[in-house]
Amino acid sequence: MSANDQDYFRAEGYSVPYQLTKLDLDVAFARDKAEMIGNYIVELYFERNVVRRKAGRADEQPLKDRLATYLDSKYTRFRYKFAASKAAAFEQECRDYHQFDGRSDNEIHPDRPNGTKLVCPHPDCRATQIQEIADSIDALLDE
Ligand SMILES: [Zn+2]
Repeated sequence: MSANDQDYFRAEGYSVPYQLTKLDLDVAFARDKAEMIGNYIVELYFERNVVRRKAGRADEQPLKDRLATYLDSKYTRFRYKFAASKAAAFEQECRDYHQFDGRSDNEIHPDRPNGTKLVCPHPDCRATQIQEIADSIDALLDE
């Protein structure tokens, strides 16, 4: 992992990496934290280097429960941060997607939360441009 990625995680408020085990999930998400939503990065290490990485958000289920779905996956560690709202979690996931664009297991751009018109905060986002065209077509069809 590059120094820039470390700076990114620090600037964005992500946790240090934890082992992706039930024990570490219980430690990180003790008591009231078990119900909170937020963002995660799951990582596969080889020796001391990250060789695979995936970013995601949990906004329809608690972050702890979402991360538990990766317990038997190829990923071995996780980082996390809590989100104050679904909108904040979506925007964080967008920043993560663009930060690691082409270097992560994320193949498609994050979807906005259902029932919202939120757009990606990245200034040159192609997904936003496509979404705006789709929205204007929907608006025309609704007329
Ligand atoms: Zn975007």
